Parts: sequence; structure tokens; C-alpha cells
Amino acid sequence: MQLKTILLFLFVIQILFTLAMKYLSYQGDNSSQLHEQILKYFTEVDIQKGIEYARSGFFASVLSDLLDFVVAGLFVFSPLSMKLESYLEKKTGNRFYLTVLFFFLIFSAVQFLISIPFQYYFGFVLEHQFGFSKMTFPDWVVYTGKSLGIAALGGSIAVVGIAFLLKKFRRSWKYLLPMISLVFGLLFSILFPIVITPLFYEYKPIEEGNLKTKIVALCEKAEIQIENVYVINESKYSGHTNAYFTGWGENRKIFLYDTLIQNHTEEEIISVLGHEIGHWTHNHQVKDIVIGTMETLVLCFILSYLFQKFKTEGSISLREFYSPSTLPFLFLLLSLFGSLTRPVWSALSRTQEIEADIEALVLTNDKKSFINTEIKLAKDNQGRLNPHPAEVFFYHSHPTTLERIHLAEAWKE
Ligand SMILES: [Zn+2]
Repeated sequence: MQLKTILLFLFVIQILFTLAMKYLSYQGDNSSQLHEQILKYFTEVDIQKGIEYARSGFFASVLSDLLDFVVAGLFVFSPLSMKLESYLEKKTGNRFYLTVLFFFLIFSAVQFLISIPFQYYFGFVLEHQFGFSKMTFPDWVVYTGKSLGIAALGGSIAVVGIAFLLKKFRRSWKYLLPMISLVFGLLFSILFPIVITPLFYEYKPIEEGNLKTKIVALCEKAEIQIENVYVINESKYSGHTNAYFTGWGENRKIFLYDTLIQNHTEEEIISVLGHEIGHWTHNHQVKDIVIGTMETLVLCFILSYLFQKFKTEGSISLREFYSPSTLPFLFLLLSLFGSLTRPVWSALSRTQEIEADIEALVLTNDKKSFINTEIKLAKDNQGRLNPHPAEVFFYHSHPTTLERIHLAEAWKE
């Protein structure tokens, strides 16, 4: 069988799988046993609200996914990529890096134009309908424009940089690329809170008082050094709540959403932070980076091997590995591999979340606040309380709310 036929077959399987998962997510888990367990902590209204929020925009999201597949399919299985590359070569007078840059920008612009009505519908219309978004329309335009600008700039630098690497180091790029992306990943995680976060949010150090004293005590108990605790104005955008750590070593910062402070008791906030500290003490970020780098290394070898196979067979027209017209082909292969490795990453993430939950319980010795936090978070974010097990297996980064509550219930103080 031709390689092109196999690729097309896998592509169709991926589309069908995506649709099947959408359907299962829509359905959720309707077992009466689960329903009863949920009712110990939530009301029928909570369950219903979670279902409505999860189901909202179902057909729009199916359409959005299908359009993405159509664009990807057109660029890979038709001569479109080749034609675009030849056209850009003529326009730029055969300047390689300019051709790469324009190809990437045009490819991204097509995807952006298709996604923008959906971004507006999901990020603005539905978020207002469910009472989360506080943004006015101009706010939303500015927010989306900034995100787009950052993505276009970051993506352009990355793509031109990778093209340079592939062209100049035709053999050793497979080792260089994972190492360089590791360095940039680390650099990015340091620069993100300093450069990107201030573009969207204002944040200030937390006020002196009870909460800060408790946070400092918690960090001392966990033997963690922090530079400071900041409150970030998420309420400007939405009612969603969150807290996170950023930075490394002595530059570690804690960011608390102001929405979290408004809606939760001090004990509950401490419980949330205990969880975040758990991620630090178990080195989850470092482990993820190490595993990610190894995955990139393996992928580089697989992509290079498959490219040679396809090119030799000639059923899909390909030029050089570093040619811009190869980009959609590589993106498609990456997306197929992503579908295969996704459940592994999800399972790893859920394991880490459980570790962090246990750390929160150990540090705070306060399972009541832990459970109350879970209940409040689910209610405030209108979380789906009865997701389908297949959805959890493939996509969920966190255990379900009920699983987390059960973990805490089983905990002996
Ligand atoms: Zn977590």
C-alpha cells in the first residue's frame, strides 16, 4: 500500500476519533451510582449547570475541529503547499528565510481567520452567557490582538530559527533541536512572568495581614523559599479562579488570582497553595521538561525517518526537509503522534495532581478546607461533575472533582 494511502487512512481515523470523543464528552457519565455520590456534595442544579456549560457550543466546536482538519488536509494532500512555496520564492527573489517566514505567516493567517469567529463565540459570547466574562467587546479585541501578536512574533522567530538549524546542520539537527528547545523552554518559563504576564495583567504584592502571614508560615513549613506573593487582577477578565507558582530557585513567585481571594476563605486559599507547593516539592515541572525533551528527541528521529520514506516513495510531493512546504506535512505527523501520546501525558499529569493533592493534605492537615475548596472551585467554574471516563482518560489533566474529594475523605488527619 502507498504511504500516502496509509497517512490518509490515519488522518481519517483521527477525525473520526475526535468526533467520537466529542460525542462521548457531550454524553458524560450518566450512571445512577455516580449521580448519587455526587449528590452527597452537590445539588441537582450544580450537576445540571456543569452539564450545560460543558455542552454549550457543541456544534460550533465540531465545526471548528472539522474546518481545522480540512485546512490541514488541503495543505498536505493537495499541491497547495508546493504552489505557495514556489509563488513566495518568486516574490522574495529566492530568499530562503523570507520564504519560510511568509509561508508560516500565511499558513497561520489562514488558520487564524478560520478560528476567529469561534474564538469570539467561545471566548466572548458563551463566557458572557454563563456569567464568567467581564470583558467589553473592545477589551476582548485588545486581549485577542495582544495574544495574536505574541503568537505571531514567537512563532516566526521559532520557525525561522528551526529552518536555519535544519538547513545548516543537516545531520546533527536531531540532537541540537531538543537541546536548544530545552534551553529556550527554561528561558521562557523565567521570562514569561516578567515579560508576558504584565502585558495582560496588573499585579501587586499581597497586602500585609493574616493571609500573608499564613502563606509565609506554609512556605516555611514546606521549606520553600519564595521571593514574594502577588495578587493578579483576573477579575478584570473573568470570574474563573486560580493560583500558580512561577520562576526558579530564589526567584519563585506565587500568583493568586484576586477572584480566588474574593471567593475563598483563608484556609481554602492555603489549601490551594499547599497543592501548588506539592508540584514544586515533587519537581513536577523539571520532570515534565526532561520527559518533554526526550519526546522531542524521539520525534525528531521519527520525523526525519518518515520524511525520507515519503520522499523516496514520492506519493506526496515533498522538497527538502527544511523547505517551508514541508511544514504542514510535519504538523500533520506531529498531530497524529500527539493523539497517540496524549493519554500518556494526561495520565502523567493526573498522577502529579494526585501527588500535589496529597502534599496539600500533609502540609495543611485540613481535609475539610480541601474538600470545601474542591466543591467551591467546581461550582464557581461550573465544572462538569460527571465527565465521561473516556474523556478523562484521553484528555483530562486533573482527576475529577469527585475523585479528589474521595482522596481527601480517605485521608487520615
Ligand atoms: Zn495542580
